[in-house]
Amino acid sequence: MTTSSEHPDWTTTGFSTRAIHAGQDPDATTGAVVPPIHQVSTYKQDGVGGLRGGYEYSRSANPTRTALEEALAAAESGGLRPTADGSPAARGFAFASGLAAEDTLLRAVVRPGDHVIVPDDAYGGTYRLIARVFGPWGVEHTPVDLTDVEAVRAAVRPETRVVWVETPTNPLLGVSDVAALAGVAHDAGALLVVDNTFATPYLQQPLALGADVVVHSTTKYVGGHSDVVGGALVVATGAQLPGGLGSPAGGTDVAGAVGFHQNASGAVAGPFDAWLTLRGLKTLAVRMDRHQANAAAVAEFLDAHPAVTEVIYPGLASHPGHELAARQMSGFGGMVSFRVGSEAKALDVCARTRVFTLAESLGGVESLVEHPGRMTHGSVAGTALEVPDDLVRLSVGIEDVEDLLADLGQALA
Ligand SMILES: *Cc1c(COP(=O)(O)O)cnc(C)c1O
Repeated sequence: MTTSSEHPDWTTTGFSTRAIHAGQDPDATTGAVVPPIHQVSTYKQDGVGGLRGGYEYSRSANPTRTALEEALAAAESGGLRPTADGSPAARGFAFASGLAAEDTLLRAVVRPGDHVIVPDDAYGGTYRLIARVFGPWGVEHTPVDLTDVEAVRAAVRPETRVVWVETPTNPLLGVSDVAALAGVAHDAGALLVVDNTFATPYLQQPLALGADVVVHSTTKYVGGHSDVVGGALVVATGAQLPGGLGSPAGGTDVAGAVGFHQNASGAVAGPFDAWLTLRGLKTLAVRMDRHQANAAAVAEFLDAHPAVTEVIYPGLASHPGHELAARQMSGFGGMVSFRVGSEAKALDVCARTRVFTLAESLGGVESLVEHPGRMTHGSVAGTALEVPDDLVRLSVGIEDVEDLLADLGQALA
């Protein structure tokens, strides 16, 4: 019998094979098939500077986090070939939260006087970070309807360094054209950043559509079990800093600058969080298949319900982004939003469900219901990003669909 640590070229395998194996070779000393939780801060050196495998301090790098970072990079790199010198097509970085990932990215790529285009229905926390944390440091922003490519082109200024995309958006599930927006951003010398939290790398691969950086709140579908907060960046190899900016690490590449800032600011994912997230990533594909089958059934049920005035789901032919979503994604995802005519009715639905749990967040195996206006999007009230007050958002879980439909039926009755 022979054993070998050689593995296939992950860029030629399917999504789940990459998600389950990339970065996760069995442990060299014990053969453990799952990367151990390296709950450790420092590493013995064989003589000064004699690092074993490059590890010296866990803010800089930790083996469990490295496994997650490599797995995420492989998950997002479908269809991308390694570069001519054999480097992977993308590099992954894991953080303590999605917003920590976003904060680190923005510190790496913008400076005072620069300008960022943000979706006019961005995740509220992203908008708050850009407007209220980066704003006072001199970074300007313009909220734009990203479903309108010409409006984005018109909003570009000489100082625009980043076009920030979310598709589908949270909570209004707007769908925008990643390839077209990449063209607009690159014509302007700006980076195209895509928050891929809602679609997940299983359903949408923005790097292959021309994006430079993918952002995740791994708290959501990637973790998938509502038991860990985390974030990630996946940076395309070769993406260059905008506006002639130099990297503090030397050179001009985005990945090098992000790596420098990840270590210099230190908002990293801890080993146990990295391990939980890696565990979630392995089952992402099977969970998403069930999430979206259930979501499609929920959307049809709501669409036919007399108490519902509008259902927003990219899988419905009535959704304005339906055709684009069908082209750009390999499925329509697990999020469904709907309107019921008044805030009082929306709050009432949220109070009555028994299988859908009233809670913020999304993407876990359990179904959640929330009122964006008063909950997740409370921080954008009174801004261009304010959401309708009769809107209810569902994160459709992977329970038995009959139970989900019955629950919504009794809540709407
Ligand atoms: C939750 C979320 C974030 C922020 O991530 P955290 O892990 O909560 O910091 C960013 N973008 C989207 C689309 C989200 O849903």
